[in-house]
Amino acid sequence: MGLVIGRVAARSDPGRRRRQNEDAYVCAPPLFAIADGMGGAQAGELAARLAKAAIEERAAAAVDEDDVVGAVQTANARVFERALQDPSTAGMGTTATVALVDERAATVMLGHVGDSRAYLFRDGRLDQLTSDHSLVGELIRSGRLTEDEAAVHPHRSVITRALGTEPDVDVDVERAELVPGDLLLLCSDGLSAMVRDDEIVRILDATGHEPGPATDALVRAANAAGGIDNVTVILAELVEGEPGTRQDTASQAVESGLDDASDLERTEEDVRKHGAGKGSRWPALLLVLGALAAVAFVLWFSFVA
Ligand code: MG
Repeated sequence: MGLVIGRVAARSDPGRRRRQNEDAYVCAPPLFAIADGMGGAQAGELAARLAKAAIEERAAAAVDEDDVVGAVQTANARVFERALQDPSTAGMGTTATVALVDERAATVMLGHVGDSRAYLFRDGRLDQLTSDHSLVGELIRSGRLTEDEAAVHPHRSVITRALGTEPDVDVDVERAELVPGDLLLLCSDGLSAMVRDDEIVRILDATGHEPGPATDALVRAANAAGGIDNVTVILAELVEGEPGTRQDTASQAVESGLDDASDLERTEEDVRKHGAGKGSRWPALLLVLGALAAVAFVLWFSFVA
């Protein structure tokens, strides 16, 4: 007996403080990805969705490490070129963490930029497979900050490497062995910044390691802890089986809350309409309110006079 992907689940939630969800994800076994966008107004959402679309396009044909890195680099080029063409989106960027499971080799290949994370849960232990490209991540690695200090650092959301801000991007590549019983967890910092690793373990245990209930419970925990950021969680279980025989019905627990097909178009439309840098509707609104006040004043004045 070998190894196959069993049940999978993905959840994305805007959190409790933000109206928009600038996270995007791909849950297309054997490929999984998370993109956490950044940029003014809708630009972060656009960056994440451009990355998602580029990664999704390559998902069906992805078989090895080169495909994973290629998908991340294609995504980088799309976001970068779009930002060049459209000044209202200048400076937009996104994280990208892509995981490709190879059932026959019983491994997972990862391509990674930014501070979204991939973890492997095995025998009650949670191991982070990716290194955060963040200011606090660098400080922890150089021994100048502890994990506990990082958790409350005022600049903990500053990332040091992103997709779409330069014509080329340096992609971290990792590979890990898999065994039946493992859980692969991908998440945006909306989870990892709000819920500690030991609490994630507790939630996975409490939900019987079932991807559907566990992703729901993890999103709820991030929101209960404040939900200051968008939160996205993907869980895939690895089970015993004949590699390559996984039925797509085994991965039906996917929920997005969004109509993905029209999603990118809708975001692009919003950016065109509103611009991305400033709240360009406010001056117009103030002008209208001012005009109404003037008319009211003239009417009132002519009435009393
Ligand atoms: Mg985030």
